[in-house]
Amino acid sequence: MLNADLHCHSIVSDGTLTPAALAQRAKANGVDLWALTDHDELDGIAEARRAADAVGLRFIAGVEISITWSGKTVHIVGLGVDEHNPELRAGLASVRGGRESRGREIAEDLARAGIHGAFEGAMQHAGNPEMLGRTHFARFLVESGVRPTVADVFKHYLVEGKPGFVPHRWGALEQAVGWIRGAGGRAVIAHPARYALTELQRDALIDAFKESGGEGIEVVTGSHTPEEYDSFARVARRAGLLASRGSDFHGVTESGADLGSLPPLPSDLKPVWHDW
Ligand code: AMP
Ligand code: MN
Ligand code: MN
Ligand code: MN
Repeated sequence: MLNADLHCHSIVSDGTLTPAALAQRAKANGVDLWALTDHDELDGIAEARRAADAVGLRFIAGVEISITWSGKTVHIVGLGVDEHNPELRAGLASVRGGRESRGREIAEDLARAGIHGAFEGAMQHAGNPEMLGRTHFARFLVESGVRPTVADVFKHYLVEGKPGFVPHRWGALEQAVGWIRGAGGRAVIAHPARYALTELQRDALIDAFKESGGEGIEVVTGSHTPEEYDSFARVARRAGLLASRGSDFHGVTESGADLGSLPPLPSDLKPVWHDW
């Protein structure tokens, strides 16, 4: 089966490698079809495509859009989008818009917990100041010796009920799917097991997603356990959704899964790339 890896991040959002370095790593790892999907931002696409072309790697322009659905943060991946589409670009700019003020509030909350200088510290890790996010704060907290690893930070800080958590309103589901489709792309629910949803809520999310024109769901992702591959393969079958596969690679020292390293999709599922 084709080694497709359709989810990863560069320094343009919260990854640690450049788009070109990711392309080279994907190629070296045996990826046949690769997408860059930075959070809420398309500025890495041109470099990624150039670098993929240079090493003979098939490239898909992607993006991972942050949305708020029913009070919860959910991520929608757009694949095969035209990165020049004005509505998509304007939509992403609106989603990014609140990140700086949110970052200041995160820093204020961390200061109340005795951790000072977090805004400036996190900014040092943000390759793109418009995309300041929790991962950059997590790297600052590791650098400051507060916790040993980024994964460990997310158990004690920056999540609901812990210091540095600031609730935030992102885009709307219907808008995000609409922008992706309007730009010629296919919308995919990212890492569906990572949301704190009951089965009923999960099915309502999938219904709303399909009604908006969404077509796919990640089944095999670096953010799922092998048991979750199976349970979301069943969800994909039942809901009639296309299946996607992607490492969600953020960097060599931080990610569970390297580019191109995951098991294949169950063979009866229809891959999101079936007609590409
Ligand atoms: P933000 O969009 O600023 O809320 O940041 C979300 C990012 O934080 C995700 O894309 C992940 O890269 C990272 N993240 C969230 N939860 C975890 C976790 N438990 N472990 C590691 N990284 C996480
Ligand atoms: Mn991320
Ligand atoms: Mn995500
Ligand atoms: Mn991601």
